Amino acid sequence: KKTLLAAVATGALFLTACSGSTGDSGGEGDGLIGVAMPTRSSERWIQDGDAVKSQLEEAGFEVDLQYAEDDIPTQVSQIENMITRGARALIVASIDGTTLSQVLQDAADADIPVIAYDRLIRDSENVDYYASFDNYIVGVQQATSVLNGLGLTDLEGEPLPDAPAGPFNVELFAGSPDDNNATFFWEGAIDTLQPYIDEGTLVVKSGQTDFEQAAILRWDGEVAQERMENLLTSTYSDGSTVDGVLSPYDGLSRGIISALTDAGYTVGEDWPIISGQDAELDSVKAIVSGEQYATIFKDTRLLAEVASDMAIALLNGEEPEVNNTEDYDNGVKVVPSYLLESAIVVQDNIQEILVDSGYWTEEEISG
Ligand code: BGC
Repeated sequence: KKTLLAAVATGALFLTACSGSTGDSGGEGDGLIGVAMPTRSSERWIQDGDAVKSQLEEAGFEVDLQYAEDDIPTQVSQIENMITRGARALIVASIDGTTLSQVLQDAADADIPVIAYDRLIRDSENVDYYASFDNYIVGVQQATSVLNGLGLTDLEGEPLPDAPAGPFNVELFAGSPDDNNATFFWEGAIDTLQPYIDEGTLVVKSGQTDFEQAAILRWDGEVAQERMENLLTSTYSDGSTVDGVLSPYDGLSRGIISALTDAGYTVGEDWPIISGQDAELDSVKAIVSGEQYATIFKDTRLLAEVASDMAIALLNGEEPEVNNTEDYDNGVKVVPSYLLESAIVVQDNIQEILVDSGYWTEEEISG
């Protein structure tokens, strides 16, 4: 695990990600592989789709890459089409993890293996493998970044000796309730924040501490903006300020930032610490400008490599490599998984984590 992080830092990873997909799994592939992605509205899925496509094409496969623009029936019919077109394997990042049971049964009936990509597909026995990040740890990292920004811990979550006593007002956001990852992020984050809430260092002033209250359907940034506006009006009209916002995704963080700007908060003065996820370019820029404190970097090139290698292995009659056979129960079975590591990005390590690894160039970030 440590080696992986070290490799991110040195940039060696980029080379692996670019050259790896034909490596371990042997011979030239042929035939069609269907790749279903949720939406183009978020940058990361475009990068995921591009990376999976190019890695499978390099290995000799033809790729049917589809985006469903967060519409469930569209995703179902895209997968149906892939099956009809004779896809030999499916790689699926679901919109709603519970709505694919019928189409996956059709895939199973046609002996087509299915790999759940990033998000676990639930309530179906016809999910063969799962490629993702350690989603609970992502949540831990998001909360840790908020604690770090408030001066309470270092980036490893170790309490700092001269930490301020607080109390700090924080508000909590969660992801889409139909995305299996959202509860993992939330649990990791809450487990990390709870001791600080219990001792009174952190105060969720709105009292909205339930997942259902914090969740934002379909990860919609505008809905997050509205919720933040409502929180500011209902809870902070008494002259108090919000000091920290737990946000599980950069797109939500941007909505939260707009609400704060509109309410008159100023960077460098009363601006809160805001977390994120995905290292989207606009949000990396927001970290540089101080509007967002941190994001979580998940290297989509590596995830694409893991998922592509799983598909290639299966089609070559080999067993895909996994490193977790316990944590991802989809309601019907535990899906064998390969989980990658993520990293906290703050101003100070943008160069090391994002630029040196070739994920973003300095020009893109400063442009
Ligand atoms: C992914 C995150 C992403 C979110 C919104 C989650 O399933 O794991 O990386 O931020 O969806 O697209």
